[in-house]
Amino acid sequence: MSLLAEDTDVADLGLRWKPGFAALGPAFLTHLRPTPLPDPYWVGHSESVARELGLPADWRQSDTTLAALTGTLPVAGTNPFATVYSGHQFGVWAGQLGDGRAIMLGETEGELEVQLKGAGRTPYSRGGDGRAVLRSSIREFLCSEAMHGLGIPTTRALSVTGSDARVYREAPESAAVVARVAPSFIRFGHFEHFAANQREDELRALADYVIDRYYPACRTTERFNGNAYAAFLEAVSERTAALLAQWQAVGFCHGVMNTDNMSILGLTIDYGPFQFLDGFDPRHICNHSDTSGRYAFNQQPNVAYWNLFCLAQALLPLIGDQEVAVAALESYKTVFPNAFEARMRAKLGLADAAESDRALIEGVLKLLAAGKVDYTIFWRRLSHYMADSNAEPVRDLFLDRAGFDTWLLSFSERHAQSVRADAGRLMLQSNPKYVLRNHLGQQAIEAAAQKDFSGVATLLTLLQTPCEEHPGADAYAGFPPDWASTIEISCSS
Ligand code: AMP
Ligand code: MG
Repeated sequence: MSLLAEDTDVADLGLRWKPGFAALGPAFLTHLRPTPLPDPYWVGHSESVARELGLPADWRQSDTTLAALTGTLPVAGTNPFATVYSGHQFGVWAGQLGDGRAIMLGETEGELEVQLKGAGRTPYSRGGDGRAVLRSSIREFLCSEAMHGLGIPTTRALSVTGSDARVYREAPESAAVVARVAPSFIRFGHFEHFAANQREDELRALADYVIDRYYPACRTTERFNGNAYAAFLEAVSERTAALLAQWQAVGFCHGVMNTDNMSILGLTIDYGPFQFLDGFDPRHICNHSDTSGRYAFNQQPNVAYWNLFCLAQALLPLIGDQEVAVAALESYKTVFPNAFEARMRAKLGLADAAESDRALIEGVLKLLAAGKVDYTIFWRRLSHYMADSNAEPVRDLFLDRAGFDTWLLSFSERHAQSVRADAGRLMLQSNPKYVLRNHLGQQAIEAAAQKDFSGVATLLTLLQTPCEEHPGADAYAGFPPDWASTIEISCSS
C-alpha cells in the first residue's frame, strides 16, 4: 500500500461509474453513505467477479479497496443510495420494505451494479440495524459463486469482508459486508410498491427503464398486439420458469421466496436460509422460520407462479386488460415443465427427447424420495455408472434394491435408443460432485470466526467448477455427517 493511498479519504477502485438506476430519481431511492465498520479484514473474494468488473489485477493489495468494499471509505465517482420496494412476505402483503441494509455504490460502465450488503442503516431499515452477520455473509458469498459455477442465473459476490464490531442477533456476532454484483437488483417488489401506492407515473417509468435496459425485444414484439408491458410480464415469467427448473433439478431450496426476493431478471437473489438437499425429500423445509412449509422444496415452482401473479397485478395498470395480463403468465405453465425435463434429461445423459422420459424422471424421483437417498451423490454415482458400467455404488444407495433395478433397466433401455454415445461425459458435466451443503458452509464459517479463512477459499475453488473432480477434495463430496441435520437456519441473518 502506498503512502499516498493511506492519506486519501476516498478509494479509487479504478472503475468508471454511470448513473444507472439512480437516474430514475428521488421517488425510487435515497442517497446516503454506508456507515463505516472498524478495522475491516478480508474473509473471501472472487477473482472471477473482479475480472468481470474490470478491477485491476492487484485490486486486493490496497487497504483502501478493503475499506471501500466494507463501506468504510467512499468510492471515487459514486453517489451511493438505497432503493425503496414493497412486497408480499409469506403470502401476506407486508407494505413498504426496501434496501434496509444493502447500499448501492452505483453501476459501472460495464453495466454491473455493485451493492454493499450489511453496510449500515437506511431509511428503509425499519427496526433493523442495517448490518449482516459473518455466517450469513459467508453463506451468501459462497452460494452466489456456487450457483454461477453450476450455470444457474444469480447475483454474484465480489467479496466478503468482516469486522470485529458486534452485531446482536440471538447472541452477539461479528459484522460482515458482502459486495454483491448484478446487472440489476430490481425485484418484483419494486413494481408492487408503486402499484400499491397508486403511483402510476413512477410505475410506468420503472417498467420503461427495465424494458429498455433489460428486455428491449418487448418494444418491437407482435405478441399481445404489441403491448410491451404484457410482453415484459411474459418474458419475466419465462425467465423465472427457467430459473425454477434449474433450482428443482439441482436440488436447491431458496427458503424465503417472498416477492421482494424475486429478481426481475430471473436471477437467484437474497441468499438466506437456502439449502442444497442432502437426502432427497420433496417436502423439505430449509427455513427454520417457515413453520407452515410455504417455501418447502416441492412448493417452489407454484410459489414462483404465485409471485408472478403478484407482479401481474402490479403491472395491470400498464397492461390495461386483466385477460391479457393473465395470458402473459400462461407460458410459465409450459416453460417450467419443459425446462425442468430438459435439465433432468441432461442429468440422465439423454441428448434427445422421448415420450417415456417423463415417466423415467418421475420414477427415479419417487425412488429417491422413498429412500431419502442423497440427491447429489446419487446423480454423480449414476454418471460414473454410465462410464464404467458398475451399478453397485449406485445400487448401494437404495434399500429398495428391486425397485432400483427395475428403474435401472428402463434407464438402460432408454439409453439403448438414444442417439448419444458419450452419455457418461454429459452426465458428469450435468451432475455436480460438489454443492454447498449446509455442513460444509458451517465448517468454513466456524473456522472463519477464528480468523481462519482457508475453508472459505477452498470451498470457493471447488464450487466454481463443481463438476470437475478436484483430486484430494473427496471429503467435500461425501455424505453429510449426522450433525448436519441438526443445523437450524432461520431468517436471522
Ligand atoms: P429478507 O427477508 O432478508 O430479504 O429481508 C426483508 C427485508 O428486511 C428487506 O427489506 C431487508 O432490507 C430488511 N432487513 C433484513 N435484515 C435487516 C437488518 N439487519 N437491518 C435492516 N433491514 C433489514
Ligand atoms: Mg430480501
